[in-house]
Amino acid sequence: MKPAPFVHLSAGSIDEAVALLLEHGDDVKILAGGQSLVPLMNMRLAQPAVLVDIGRTPGLDAIAVDGALRIGATARQSAVLRSPAVAAAAPLLTDALQWVSHPAIRNRGTFGGSVAHADAAAELPSALLALDAEMVARGPQGERTIPAGDFFVTYFTSALEEDEVLTEVRVPPRSPAERTGAKFLEIARRHGDFALVGVAVSLSLDAEDAIAGARVALCGVADVPLRARAAEAALVGTRAGDVAAATEAGRLAAEGLEPPSDVHASARYRVDAATTLVRRALLAASPTAPGGER
Ligand SMILES: Cc1cc2nc3c(=O)[nH]c(=O)nc-3n(C[C@H](O)[C@H](O)[C@H](O)COP(=O)(O)OP(=O)(O)OC[C@H]3O[C@@H](n4cnc5c(N)ncnc54)[C@H](O)[C@@H]3O)c2cc1C
Repeated sequence: MKPAPFVHLSAGSIDEAVALLLEHGDDVKILAGGQSLVPLMNMRLAQPAVLVDIGRTPGLDAIAVDGALRIGATARQSAVLRSPAVAAAAPLLTDALQWVSHPAIRNRGTFGGSVAHADAAAELPSALLALDAEMVARGPQGERTIPAGDFFVTYFTSALEEDEVLTEVRVPPRSPAERTGAKFLEIARRHGDFALVGVAVSLSLDAEDAIAGARVALCGVADVPLRARAAEAALVGTRAGDVAAATEAGRLAAEGLEPPSDVHASARYRVDAATTLVRRALLAASPTAPGGER
């Protein structure tokens, strides 16, 4: 199918992108990598009259470590996946990106596009929730920072206003001395498909390999990525790699979930998958467990 007619405008700067959004009101959309928006337009599920293309807007695709890890919104997913700076500062993101679609899509799709699109089954939003990341948005009133926990509102809806551009994602620094573990795991019908259920785990450990802090976030089980707070609380003080503690955390993470049923998987299947994936991801993230990572 072909999209409805539209006007394509290239933004030469972030300020110009914001001005164009303001000028064209309800009928305008940002175009980044186009890997979600263009299929929606081809199916006529989205019919914006104007596209503001930020794919080549200068200053939006940098990846830098400047205290925090800073990933520009239009950094291609493949560039983030290959970045040594990202692998060192936030290995959970490198891990999660391997599950995002296929190389051809990742070569065009942007990091920020995946975040702004706010697909409940996408991998990056849950990984960013587990990393306590912040989204930086620029609008007519200037810049504001939105914590990941407040950013995802419901299916395909973020806290971005219609006239705001997501410019950057910031992941807080960890101290070089901090011992951490991270893992992203998911179940999908085929590799590269969206997750039926995905789990992002980020652990910090004390000198005795006890878990000092745990963050567990799930995708595919609700309209937004969810933190498994009861599981996180129960993990603190347990030994990393303890199978019983990981199993109990899996049970707690799935407790109270009310995931959707669809043609791909029933709600019951998603609950069972979440239970198992949380346990497996915790063990894989634990440096002391067989197969665990430092
Ligand atoms: C076959 C296929 C398989 C896929 N599989 C997966 C998968 O397994 N996991 C996964 O996570 N994704 C998957 N995707 C989606 C892919 O990751 C997209 O690239 C991503 O969701 C959107 O990024 P984009 O840069 O292409 O954004 P676009 O398609 O250009 O935009 C998507 C939406 O976000 C808005 N937007 C984009 N950037 C900004 C910004 N900086 N500020 C404000 N609004 C913005 C746009 O206006 C639009 O509404 C798949 C896509 C395809 C085609």
